[in-house]
Order: sequence, then structure tokens, then C-alpha cells
Amino acid sequence: MAADENQPAPTMVASSPQVSAQMSRHPRRNTEPEVALRRLLFAGGLRYRVHLRVPGLARRTIDIAFPGTKVAVFVDGCFWHGCPDHGMVPRSNREWWRQKLDGNRRRDEETAAHLAGSGWDVLRFWCHEDVAAVAEVVTACVRRVQAGSAAGDKLAPGARRAQKTYGSRSLP
Ligand SMILES: [Zn+2]
Repeated sequence: MAADENQPAPTMVASSPQVSAQMSRHPRRNTEPEVALRRLLFAGGLRYRVHLRVPGLARRTIDIAFPGTKVAVFVDGCFWHGCPDHGMVPRSNREWWRQKLDGNRRRDEETAAHLAGSGWDVLRFWCHEDVAAVAEVVTACVRRVQAGSAAGDKLAPGARRAQKTYGSRSLP
């Protein structure tokens, strides 16, 4: 729509009915894959916190957090986080969306770097990934860290794990 190109500088709120519609088509929390993953992890005996606030970073949350072992799991929606296979910029309000989605990517990177810097293992996955395979990676990571702590890990907090990521989504 030509009218959209003449809109004022973008603000990060739904600026039109089309934007609202697009937003509700892509839920950000408690998505089906996220809930399915939580179920599998719970069934496997793991206990976690849902949407835990990122310590030291305002208005950021961890989708599935294991605070005891400092493992943070993110299940990134293909739309909101710009999946290379399924991400897209809506045609209507294109520039607004581009900025919004770029901003999301920057926030993702910042959040992951912040957590890694505080000694967390950060695992990122795309929504489209096989949930059973993701659950296996998460379980293996949590168990490994638990085993390390039980064995009396003598490294300084974060020394062993900082900057290390697992899963198929690698960090920049
Ligand atoms: Zn995808």
C-alpha cells in the first residue's frame, strides 16, 4: 500500500490494523513448540523456570531457564527472530517491520552475550526444529553441568562455559 510508505517515523507499537493482525498471527510466548519442549523436559525429570527474567538486563526473559545450572534455553519464533528459512518482512508497513525485526535480532545477540558473560550456557533453537532432538540437546547440557558441579568443579564461575553455545543456532 502506497499510503504505508508515507507513514511517520516508526514507533515500536502496533501502528495499524495490519500490524496488529500480523502480530497476533505470530505469538511470541508459549508457542506450540515451546510448550511441547517444556513437556518433554518435564517428562524427562528436568525442572525449570518459565520466562525467567534475565538477571541484570531489563525487560528480557529466558524462555526456559535452569537457574541452578545456569542453562538458558530460547525457542526462537521463525518470524520474530528472522529465521533464514521462514523469516520474512511483511509487505505492508515494510520499513516499520524491518526495523522491528532487526531490533529483535540485536536484542537476541545482546541477551545471549550478556548471559554467556555471566556464566550461563545459552542454547538457542528455532521453532521449526525437531522438538525431540532439541529436548535431547537441552537434557544433555543440563546433565553435563549437573555432573560437573557434583564432581566439584573448581573453575571460576563461568570460566568453563562462557561464550560456549550448543544447539543448531550459533551465536555471531
Ligand atoms: Zn524457521
